[in-house]
Amino acid sequence: MLNVNYKNIVNSISQLTDRDVEVVAVTKNRSIGEIREVISAGARILGENRIEEAFEKFIERGLKAEFPEVQVHMIGHLQSKKVKKAMEIFDCVQSLDSKKLAGKLNAACGEAGKTIDVLIEVNVSGEEQKYGVAPGDVEELVEELKLLKNVRLKGLMAMAPFTFDKEIQRETFRGLRKLSDKLSEKFGSDYFQVLSMGMSNDYQVAVEEGANMVRIGTAIFED
Ligand SMILES: *Cc1c(COP(=O)(O)O)cnc(C)c1O
Repeated sequence: MLNVNYKNIVNSISQLTDRDVEVVAVTKNRSIGEIREVISAGARILGENRIEEAFEKFIERGLKAEFPEVQVHMIGHLQSKKVKKAMEIFDCVQSLDSKKLAGKLNAACGEAGKTIDVLIEVNVSGEEQKYGVAPGDVEELVEELKLLKNVRLKGLMAMAPFTFDKEIQRETFRGLRKLSDKLSEKFGSDYFQVLSMGMSNDYQVAVEEGANMVRIGTAIFED
């Protein structure tokens, strides 16, 4: 029961913290019907990871026009040649991971007279993942983003390595939190409002370590 699952997750988060934590319902591989259902259960932010699939569902099949109050976030790797489509679909790109992509997004948004929110995806845990910026390279990307008028930096995103070891998960999330605090002090907290970390398998630990946005697919749509 998708609506029950969604509500259980929201409840379990509110028992862990008094902070506001946004739940991104990850709708990759989910049908239009399932997306309508999760929206009626209360979801206000959806996450997608492939441009073609998201374009089909949200633009061609009209979900974006049907639910203008619902935000759609890109959470998968975005190739710079696909920024024009991305800009049509997404309110936020959580997976910003290069200067090149930032420049292309800024140019496309500039031409369209839009601005787009972004999070920098950080590869906190090292070799496990292909994508994301190394923690030591984040500052340089922040400096670059500050110069771009049509791209607004809102925070950081990360994934923990796939493991059921809570201490490894905790290490990763704590690392991202510390990085965010440090950068926030240096560049200003406006750029680091969002800490997007935690998925079905590890969102409770992420919330304990300071997440204010979690991205959940399986635990909502399967069971
Ligand atoms: C698929 C995905 C999620 C959701 O994962 P679940 O384990 O299904 O909750 C979260 N974040 C990213 C970046 C993803 O690709």
